Amino acid sequence: MYDVIISGCGPAGSNAAYKCATAGLNVLMIDKDEFPRKKCCAGGLLERAYSALPNFSTDLIEKEIYGAKFVMGDESIEIKSDKRVAVTVKRESFDTFLFNSAINAGVESITGHRVIKAIERDDCVDVTYGNETISSKLFIVADGASSRVANSIFGAPSSKSRAVAIAQNLNVEKDSGNSFVIYTIGRSPLKPKLKNRFPSYAWAFPKNNQVNIGVGGVGYPTEYLKQSMDRIYKHVDSQFHVISDEEAAAHSIPYAVRDNFCTKRCMAVGDAAGFASSLSGEGFTYAIFSGLDAGMAAVDFINHGSSIPHAYRSRLGKDVLPYLRSSNLAARLVALSASFCNVPSLVRQFSSDHLIQKTCIEYVLGKCDWTKLFFACFKRFPKALVTSFGHPWVPQPPIV
Ligand SMILES: Cc1cc2nc3c(=O)[nH]c(=O)nc-3n(C[C@H](O)[C@H](O)[C@H](O)COP(=O)(O)OP(=O)(O)OC[C@H]3O[C@@H](n4cnc5c(N)ncnc54)[C@H](O)[C@@H]3O)c2cc1C
Repeated sequence: MYDVIISGCGPAGSNAAYKCATAGLNVLMIDKDEFPRKKCCAGGLLERAYSALPNFSTDLIEKEIYGAKFVMGDESIEIKSDKRVAVTVKRESFDTFLFNSAINAGVESITGHRVIKAIERDDCVDVTYGNETISSKLFIVADGASSRVANSIFGAPSSKSRAVAIAQNLNVEKDSGNSFVIYTIGRSPLKPKLKNRFPSYAWAFPKNNQVNIGVGGVGYPTEYLKQSMDRIYKHVDSQFHVISDEEAAAHSIPYAVRDNFCTKRCMAVGDAAGFASSLSGEGFTYAIFSGLDAGMAAVDFINHGSSIPHAYRSRLGKDVLPYLRSSNLAARLVALSASFCNVPSLVRQFSSDHLIQKTCIEYVLGKCDWTKLFFACFKRFPKALVTSFGHPWVPQPPIV
């Protein structure tokens, strides 16, 4: 009988495993893939996320990021910081590093096998992979946005809680800079309902000799998303000269938290729990924090007999759930504004506000919480809304 079994060794699962093992628990983690493995992702890791990581190695850094550039059709606005606000990583190396950190802390692993089901009993959880069933006192579900195991334990999430994202790595000749580039991708011809909206956008994130481009959205025809990717490919090519490219891949991103994500002996973490920002799709921060929170809750449960719902929820209530709620509200406001306003004008209004700029930087550095950023934006919102109201326009990526 293990103390803890973890299904999935991404950032959420490996961090949960590491936390449990360093406290002396007997832990097994299982992943369907062998490591290193590829993962469809842009690899943007905010300073506040990776500063929470134990022993982060600077060898993993592809590019240090000092700003963000918004490209809206032919117009672009760049915000710079004198402090590093993020880094980019390659998921193959980053996830393998986290996996190895857990192994070095004493975690056992089984890779190349999918967890098929988990049954919670009064005194244990029976976990089945391949033809084997093993038991543990606690089970942590960390197997990503499409987790069937999480659905069977916590109930299926709403079908309107997953966005689709496509990403592709381009090998480039020239240095691709040190800013995250965000593109608006126009309005969906399908006109999704407001409650189902996720502010869809595209990106180009610089890496060492590479740029990761991608597009994510809800309620856009796939063909439309592919055309946006095509334009961004050409835009990146015109600036940095693409030498070759890797195959594009698609994956879902959750943009709504599950109604239920813990029971007496089970916890869902990271994407499996729906913990990603509805505003940006950023999921690393919440995968890392919820993984560490679940690890600490497991230690409280095993060593002190604390109840899981209390031990896990009270930690998430400090560093995960309020941030996700505020990003959800912000996402709705952005989606609503985009229906009635001129988006480049809105972005100009917010990005020229020094208080917002300063607070955004503090936020990504982990130096202030969501309330400060939210109120800084809220203060500017009426003026930004009045100035930008009418002639709604969301530009498509530039045509090169
Ligand atoms: C295109 C794209 C770009 C993104 N870009 C960013 C970004 O730049 N910054 C950011 O912060 N976030 C980004 N995200 C979100 C981020 O990738 C996720 O939030 C993050 O990976 C969640 O980590 P996780 O550990 O919860 O899940 P995952 O990283 O998905 O890990 C789940 C693990 O479970 C394994 N697994 C799956 N099923 C089973 C099973 N049945 N049994 C055993 N193992 C299983 C998988 O092999 C995998 O190793 C992006 C997402 C996408 C799709």
